[in-house]
Amino acid sequence: MEGLPEGVKLTPMLEQYLHWKRQYPGYLLFFRMGDFFELFFDDAVAASELLDLTLTARDAEKAIPMAGVPHHAVDGYLARLVEAGRRVALCDQVTEPDGKTLVERRVVRLVTPGTFVPPESGQEGLLAACIPGKPCWALALLSMSTGRFEAGNLPEQEARSYLLSFSPQETLVPRGLEGFSLEGPLVERERDLFSVTAAEALLKHRHGVLSLEGFGFEPRDAALGAAGAVLRYVEETQFGRTGHLQTLRRIQPRSGLLLDPSSQCNLELVEGRGGSLYGILNRCKTPLGRRLLREWILHPLNDPEAIELRQEAVQALVDTPSLRESLRRVLEGLPDVERALSRLHLNTGGPRDLGACRDFLSRLPRLESFRDRPPLLPWLPEPCPGREELGESLSRALEETLPRNLREGGVIRPGHDGELDSLRQCLGDAKGWLRSYEEGERARTGIRNLKVGFNRVFGHYIEVGKAAADRVPGEYQRRQTLVNCERYVTEELRTFEDRRCGAEGALAEREERLWNDLLTRTLSRTADLQAAARKVAELDVLHGFAEVAAARGYCRPLVDEGETLSIRGGRHPVVEAALTPEPFTPNDLELDGDQRRMILLTGPNMAGKSTFLRMGALLVLMAQMGSFVPAEEARIGRIDRLFTRIGARDDLNRGKSTFMVEMMETAQILNGLGPRSLVILDEIGRGTSTDDGMSIAWAVMEFLQEETELRPKVLFATHYHELTALAEKLPGVRNCSVAVEETPRGLAFLHHVVPRPASRSYGVDVARLAGLPESVLLRSRELLSRFEARRREGTELLPQEERPRSGETGQRRLFDVDLEALLEELSLCDPDRMTPLQGLETLYRLREKG
Ligand code: ADP
Repeated sequence: MEGLPEGVKLTPMLEQYLHWKRQYPGYLLFFRMGDFFELFFDDAVAASELLDLTLTARDAEKAIPMAGVPHHAVDGYLARLVEAGRRVALCDQVTEPDGKTLVERRVVRLVTPGTFVPPESGQEGLLAACIPGKPCWALALLSMSTGRFEAGNLPEQEARSYLLSFSPQETLVPRGLEGFSLEGPLVERERDLFSVTAAEALLKHRHGVLSLEGFGFEPRDAALGAAGAVLRYVEETQFGRTGHLQTLRRIQPRSGLLLDPSSQCNLELVEGRGGSLYGILNRCKTPLGRRLLREWILHPLNDPEAIELRQEAVQALVDTPSLRESLRRVLEGLPDVERALSRLHLNTGGPRDLGACRDFLSRLPRLESFRDRPPLLPWLPEPCPGREELGESLSRALEETLPRNLREGGVIRPGHDGELDSLRQCLGDAKGWLRSYEEGERARTGIRNLKVGFNRVFGHYIEVGKAAADRVPGEYQRRQTLVNCERYVTEELRTFEDRRCGAEGALAEREERLWNDLLTRTLSRTADLQAAARKVAELDVLHGFAEVAAARGYCRPLVDEGETLSIRGGRHPVVEAALTPEPFTPNDLELDGDQRRMILLTGPNMAGKSTFLRMGALLVLMAQMGSFVPAEEARIGRIDRLFTRIGARDDLNRGKSTFMVEMMETAQILNGLGPRSLVILDEIGRGTSTDDGMSIAWAVMEFLQEETELRPKVLFATHYHELTALAEKLPGVRNCSVAVEETPRGLAFLHHVVPRPASRSYGVDVARLAGLPESVLLRSRELLSRFEARRREGTELLPQEERPRSGETGQRRLFDVDLEALLEELSLCDPDRMTPLQGLETLYRLREKG
């Protein structure tokens, strides 16, 4: 072992420790010693810091650092380590200590961030594998909490979006990939673990089939390599316990509305400083629903029929408050049966997990009463006699309140099993026997302070005060002498003891047998329980949608195959909630595939441009996940891809300049456009000088406008007032602005979007609002008018004769820049393959040309 302090003499136990430590490099080794898991050496130092444990020393010389956690609380500590990205190997005692020989120990469980199922409901453990390739990446994803297991091949951008939307705690990648980068924690594994042939054999064996085509996988499908890598990793870390994994499903390419990676961050969908869409929509009553809601938000649908099916259920629940109320009562308190099942399969579960299955099953029949509501039918688990039978057995067998561990006893109800009852009776009687034996002996010997007691070393004994020691009968055998008393045993006590120990052992054994029987029966119905749980989760989310819709006055949007995106009286769901009780100013949004394909939104900072843009995106997402939307009326021709570029995100800590990040994200949008795309661009070009920024914004708009085949819909906000000239030049682009009122005391924001460009720039006015000193404001006004005058005299923006017509391919000039040359050079760049430095150098070069 590295770093072994000099002069440390290893005991056999430490030798044993080091043996296991060497087998699991990269893992913290938890070494079971009695009631504790101990850590030694560097592991002890690391764990004491991460877990706030006291660092002690093992040996007399204090050279071996040591720290420990009580074994019964180990799950909580594991959760904290996993959250910190660490992996743990649990080395347990596998033989009983006999005080003479070294206890045998073995690593029985490996805990890694992607395979850990936390003891409390929360973030689920997600594990992914990815094999980058051209044109597609092979991907696999596994949720340890729910057993969901899927694989497929996606083009790089989609693969990145897909992985980001799940944010797996570990992503397995083949070792030694060059020039490869991916968000999130990566685990490099040997290349042969990703072999497609090996994976095919493994999966066929696992599912007991001769071909995987039935699951949607062609022979030699690259995705299988990724699935195989995941499976091998789980088998390895869970020592073969993979019973809860569902059948491998295929990730459908381009199914649903695809969000680009930046939309997932920028739209504050599941997390946000001032609240998130998840925060608004989460009225779920169960952990199952909460988990699914996250998934629905990040993976909205794009099939109008499927969306309508969800809407029908929401509508029924919105229309009938009493129905909502009765459904709420059934859902409330439904336990996380998916997680419980996973824990039981992984051998980390206990009686309470089986209790969760029982509670779930016993509540399920209450959903039957909703069968007369056709819109809810698709979400009601089909009745299933086997499942109901299991529920009844669990209810009959298990105690109402259950201990955490089986060993604590009290798992099986009295009356369920005759043998168990008689063993319990026998032990219960033992107490009575001891009491009457004590009384009898007291009377027989006349010793008033005679007591029967128990300790772990000697078992049961009779204790007599020193003063009465000469009165004890001859058959008492002395066992122990204490300061004030003597302790004895008798033949009768010995016999009793033997009987009692036997009964105790038999009781534990019997209870375990009954437990194992219940466990096996429950686990054999895993797939069925998982399917029922999925339906309940869906029902829970839909019920939540109805609650929000009713509480906040949302409307049912029409989602269809049309080209129109029309929102009347729309509100931003999160900003609206944050403003309450202040009113939110509703706005209309009209886009179509033709004359109104792009909206250019101008207005001063703080006017409400971002809010309007995000509102558009969020309402589309909400509508396509089946939710109602905050608007008076909405019609949404389905969107298949959503791209956003919002604000100047601070990415400096990753070594890229803000501008670079902005350009990379813009490049990804322009390269990733597909049919039915909605593009949200907010303040692009902000991270650089005005002219640079404006040129790029202009060029991007032109590019999007000229994209006549894919015809993306675009919402573009800018405070570059000059860009409003674009609407005159490019057909399909409309000017809108957020209205402001100029009052004697400065600007008043009306937050109202009007169909005309802003009348001027308002930077100085906004500076006043921000509290800049009056002298600075005056000077800015003076400078501004000078700049404006110079511009009027010299390079008037786009003189009439130079304004190109749409589709014109000749020289286009903007601010005296040879735009065509600039664009050509830009088009030759591949930002995805540039280092930040190369990117910046290119930009400097482009600027030189301008
Ligand atoms: P911009 O993008 O133009 O700088 P924002 O969209 O960030 O402005 O809006 C600034 C603030 O104005 C928001 O934080 C919000 O409090 C308020 N606001 C924006 N739109 C509205 C609206 N429609 N109704 C009420 N308040 C709004």
